[in-house]
Amino acid sequence: MIKFEPIYLRCPQCNSWLEGHKLRSEMVNSSILYSDGKTLNDDYIITPQKIIICPACSHWFWIEHYEEPAITTTKPTEWCYGWNTWRFFGVHFASNEGKTALIEHYKSFLTSIHNIEREIYLRRMLWWAYNDLVRNFYQASWNYLFSGEMSFNVWRKNRNKIFKGMWLFRHYHEEYIDNCIALLRLVENRYSPSDDEYERSILEIMELYRETGQYGKAQEILDKVPRRTHYIANIEKKVKQKKDFVFLVVG
Ligand SMILES: [Zn+2]
Repeated sequence: MIKFEPIYLRCPQCNSWLEGHKLRSEMVNSSILYSDGKTLNDDYIITPQKIIICPACSHWFWIEHYEEPAITTTKPTEWCYGWNTWRFFGVHFASNEGKTALIEHYKSFLTSIHNIEREIYLRRMLWWAYNDLVRNFYQASWNYLFSGEMSFNVWRKNRNKIFKGMWLFRHYHEEYIDNCIALLRLVENRYSPSDDEYERSILEIMELYRETGQYGKAQEILDKVPRRTHYIANIEKKVKQKKDFVFLVVG
């Protein structure tokens, strides 16, 4: 089944065409979900990339909404830059070097943002980018090897990469916490219970409390959430254990 459909957009500076992909909405349910809200489908993040560096002229620009006229699904007759040239700013996302390059990109964008919506987006992306260093820590366990997902050699190589990622995560830890606290301040009290965004937002706030070690605050929110979904039950378990790492919820 085709999960993605091609989209095309133009650099406002040099008019180059960029080709990308957009996830078909009906495929979202078959995704992998992490506790920080990052959702993947076939290793692709399903949140559209709102900030783009043009691979032709290095100008950076925002695409707020993936709809006409900012994007089109009609293939242009002119030549297009491929998705890999601009997706995640062209970094090789699977490596630790690519992950740290992504962190540095988001940090550099933050220095010139004076708009709350954009700052929330960038700080959320930065939060997820730090977490990417340790996101798949569960794959380093012996249990994962015995689950048969990877051969021994692939598992061992992957585990070395994960341990290096953990080292990098510790290295970034202070600025990671600063970013989580800054994001918390921006999203706290942003929505009231009658808003559509309220439930998603309250879960994000709870997770930010947990990841910054404020377990009492996280528990206060948990006590007010009436529904006990798989996601909430998992977070509650981690809060009680006082564990602050991102983890795989559904995959
Ligand atoms: Zn350009």
